[in-house]
Amino acid sequence: MSPQRVPYKGYRRLEDWSIKRFLGHHYTSFEHEMMDANLRRLLVIDLMLMITETMLLIVPEPGIAYHGILIGFLIANAILIVVIWTTIDFSIQSTAWRQAVVTLDLILKFVLASALSMISQSSHDLMHLVIGTMYVMVSVIYLRNTIYGVLLLMVTVIYIAILPFYQPDLNHRFVVSGNLVIFALGSWVVAYLINRDRAATFKAKVELEDLLKRDLMTKLYNHDTILELVSREVEAARVDGQPLSMLLLDLDDFKLINDQHGHLKGDEVLLKVVEVLRKTTRATDLIGRYGGEEFLILFTRTELPVAEKISERIRQAIEAVDISGVSVTVSGGLTQLNEESAHSFIKAADDKLYEAKRAGKNQIMAA
Ligand code: GH3
Ligand code: MG
Ligand code: MG
Repeated sequence: MSPQRVPYKGYRRLEDWSIKRFLGHHYTSFEHEMMDANLRRLLVIDLMLMITETMLLIVPEPGIAYHGILIGFLIANAILIVVIWTTIDFSIQSTAWRQAVVTLDLILKFVLASALSMISQSSHDLMHLVIGTMYVMVSVIYLRNTIYGVLLLMVTVIYIAILPFYQPDLNHRFVVSGNLVIFALGSWVVAYLINRDRAATFKAKVELEDLLKRDLMTKLYNHDTILELVSREVEAARVDGQPLSMLLLDLDDFKLINDQHGHLKGDEVLLKVVEVLRKTTRATDLIGRYGGEEFLILFTRTELPVAEKISERIRQAIEAVDISGVSVTVSGGLTQLNEESAHSFIKAADDKLYEAKRAGKNQIMAA
């Protein structure tokens, strides 16, 4: 027997080069999480830089007139720390704003670092500071590939353009420019590879989280999740003043189906019922596997009369199911949320379900 191949969920195919395409609809939340991490990383970097700048001011390097630039650095860093802190503390969620803050922070550092390299510095070459700054940021900060590309290109072009003003040696300029282009390219590639890994990890994480919320057999929300969703929707319905209806379904005499046709056939019937549930409900409805052959359906923003119509449609569709001669019916308890708790809301639907069973099954009983 050949070993079962487990599909690789990370990057493998060439067409997955685009992080956006690879993540699909998860991209927005990925970027959101990355922006959040960026701000925290930048905060640490800026605090560390401020300490270094302060120390350089206190103990200056002889022969270099960089006091003005250092003070510029300090002021810029202090402002950025306040902006970043405010963004985190007040939980400003706009991704565009967060991206702008990060980009501005990087640009300011590059500008000031370039300024540092241009001042009269006798035998000193402060170029390594610029490259060092680039290295640190590229390895920890997330930016879109294109924004990173533009930023690095901008820094490189500006740097090479102003080089003749303070470096008269043509050979030296050539070497320095060449190094910078290679460093910029390398930084972009390293940043891209790191972000690609982050995207793959993120995707695996959200897929795993989703898996934990679902029942493995039917892929519906599992018991715990649907209970959580009931609480959440009860809260939301109360806040928004919107109606909320709940249908609790239980297959009729399912034990008999298992006994007469075997559990495998029972499973097949169950999956067919789930398929019917998916087809007969709306995208906004929430379906969970409440028990073995019991389902809880939340009709959001739905009044009882409308929910009754949908429930009756569901009942009829399940009754019409025929898997090689085996069919099944379903009983349901339907109720609309009033002032009660989530717990009592479920209890009300459950009571109605038992009424439907007592009244002869294959029917929906509404409160
Ligand atoms: P009632 O009309 O009163 O609901 O009768 P019932 O036989 O359906 O009774 P009940 O709801 O108590 O029994 C549920 C049965 O469903 C018992 C259990 O063996 C079966 N069941 C639960 N989960 C599964 C499953 O995943 N697959 C199969 N094949 N059977 C299941
Ligand atoms: Mg049952
Ligand atoms: Mg049953």
